[in-house]
Amino acid sequence: MKVTDHLKNAKGKTLFSFELIPPVKGRNIQELYNNIDPLMEFDPPFIDVTTSREEYVYIDKEGLLDKKVTRMRPGTVGICASIKHKYKVDTVPHILCGGFTKEETEYVLVDCHYLGIDNVMALRGDAMREEKYFQPTKGGHAYAVDLVRQIQNLNQGKYLHEDIETDHSAQFCIGVAGYPEKHLEAPSLKSDLKRLKEKVDAGADYVVTQMFFDNQKFFEFVDAARDIGINIPIIPGIKPMAVKRHLQLLPQVFRIDLPQDLIDAVDACENNKAVRQVGVEWAIKQSQELKEAGVPVLHYYSMGKSDNIRAIAKEVF
Ligand code: FAD
Repeated sequence: MKVTDHLKNAKGKTLFSFELIPPVKGRNIQELYNNIDPLMEFDPPFIDVTTSREEYVYIDKEGLLDKKVTRMRPGTVGICASIKHKYKVDTVPHILCGGFTKEETEYVLVDCHYLGIDNVMALRGDAMREEKYFQPTKGGHAYAVDLVRQIQNLNQGKYLHEDIETDHSAQFCIGVAGYPEKHLEAPSLKSDLKRLKEKVDAGADYVVTQMFFDNQKFFEFVDAARDIGINIPIIPGIKPMAVKRHLQLLPQVFRIDLPQDLIDAVDACENNKAVRQVGVEWAIKQSQELKEAGVPVLHYYSMGKSDNIRAIAKEVF
């Protein structure tokens, strides 16, 4: 079922959902299930599974280093299918521009369609770890809006190299990313919102936001989006702070501001166990306020460990 249909059926009730990262290559998928199990009592209508960018690895060949590209956390679509099968819940694979040609994207979408996956998140993808800026893949898309257009075309039976008349074309519901504090590369919040509007006009059905720690930023973002005619659901993304290093890392990587009260509380922690508790308490407060404001879903970034998400959900749902 489509994410947007879940929202309609909820009739204004705030739903719970979360995002998972595929395990590192070679690890057991049971580890992932062990983190999903404790969250199922909160009845997520859908679960997102991220796609990681490729990385360069250097293989020692008799003293010479051979540079190869590899994806350390493959398996997004397979994991989505297995979660759907095991838990009878909808899944949302993240589809990236980066690292995929348009043809490869088409094949991934065809796989999703055959597997009964009705939703996809259309994203540009981060820059590769070794790159300062995002470099489009040869034969791939440069921006998420182009990916949204490709998915919408497929929904109408328009494949890359042929139009196919069929009663069985996919009808993907498309999520896209939004940034309450603007995307790090955008020259201004206003121009970033115009880019978001382009994704909506191209056929996006809902928005999930980047993490934020000050709800006011989210409320202002939603108001500004509505002002320029973005009328699709906007789902807040919540990440509980978990380690002290997040104080530097999150602003540096995502260009987001942290409220002073949160910084002071984390600074005062003696160890990361205490930071994790502060993160949970902050996320509970954030979630309760957002729920009271009537957000459609509270979507949590789980980063592979679900104990803190469970502690938050127990208080909020
Ligand atoms: P875009 O919408 O393409 O925007 C990228 C930048 O380009 C913005 O600054 C925008 O203003 C600008 N822009 C857009 N269109 C144009 C245009 N036509 N001309 C000029 N400028 C333009 N990353 C992963 O690698 N894997 C994931 O699974 C993943 N999941 C995510 C889930 C969520 C909810 C969010 C918020 C982010 C996620 N990301 C993920 C990170 C995301 O890939 C990065 O933030 C990326 O840098 C931008 O992706 P986007 O889809 O927002 O890009």
